[in-house]
Amino acid sequence: VVLVGDNPASLSYIKRKESVAEATGFATFDFRFSASISQCDLEGELRLIREHPEIDGVLLQLPVPKGLNSDALIAVLGSDVDADGLHPFHQGTTLLGLDGHPRPCTPLGVMALIDLAFWKRSQKASADHENDFPATWPLPRADLSGLHAVVIGRSALVGKPVSMLLLERNASVSILHSRTVKPDVMSSQADILVAAVGQPELVGANWVKSGAIVIDVGINRGPTGKLVGDVLFDQVAPRCSAITPVPGGVGPMTVAMLMKNTFEIFERNIAQAESSEQTSKKRGE
Ligand code: NAD
Repeated sequence: VVLVGDNPASLSYIKRKESVAEATGFATFDFRFSASISQCDLEGELRLIREHPEIDGVLLQLPVPKGLNSDALIAVLGSDVDADGLHPFHQGTTLLGLDGHPRPCTPLGVMALIDLAFWKRSQKASADHENDFPATWPLPRADLSGLHAVVIGRSALVGKPVSMLLLERNASVSILHSRTVKPDVMSSQADILVAAVGQPELVGANWVKSGAIVIDVGINRGPTGKLVGDVLFDQVAPRCSAITPVPGGVGPMTVAMLMKNTFEIFERNIAQAESSEQTSKKRGE
């Protein structure tokens, strides 16, 4: 985990990520740098970290302090240790729908929550009582054929990649953003609504179609300092078939996906090490 500066929200996110990593059996290494570090020095540090023999995946906590270029930092880390799935190579493999590469964690978490909503729906239809969580993982991948998914937000971190993942599941996808005229009208046509805006409680009941699945990615401080999402939960919850809370919901699922990506990089590294060992043996080295 690489943290630059001491943004309190980032500190609390990495604390959670590290405690989940430890609870699930990962060794974690904490690298902290002052907000005043130069781009050049930080890039040098990241080059050392990415070469560390005991490290499979690196998480660079975003946002980095003003004056630092996060795109260049992610590029320096390289795709091999990109547990976050945010390196341009992985944004490309996500766009192309190629399997076997890390995908951005928050969009993966959104898809897992959509799968959970569909799984719960199927449980309700087939059983007298509803189980809270499935006994096996991963969940069946929901096929979204014929459904309209609306994503509010077009960031490289969430909006764009989650739109690609929804498209991959055959949803018809609309992407709304700050220049969209009447976003509430378009949003109210969604069977699946993903809000990744960063505006506290922007999405009210009139933005949501009755029976929709609503995934709230936003993490914002409301006027009283309370943590709130992009969705006005109390108004919207009675209208929809499933909704994620803030805090909870997408945040913890993003952390789970970070663990999944890191574990898959570890497995790939082990497989590569074994295959190069076998090649050396064959050559009698
Ligand atoms: P961002 O600022 O990069 O992007 C916000 C997007 O919202 C932009 O594309 C913008 O065009 C759009 N937008 C802004 N105002 C709008 C409006 N009035 N109507 C329609 N669209 C509008 O933010 P981001 O990095 O994508 O993050 C979005 C939110 O998700 C933030 O609250 C962030 O904290 C949260 N987030 C949560 C997690 C998590 O793990 N839960 C992860 C990443 C981001």
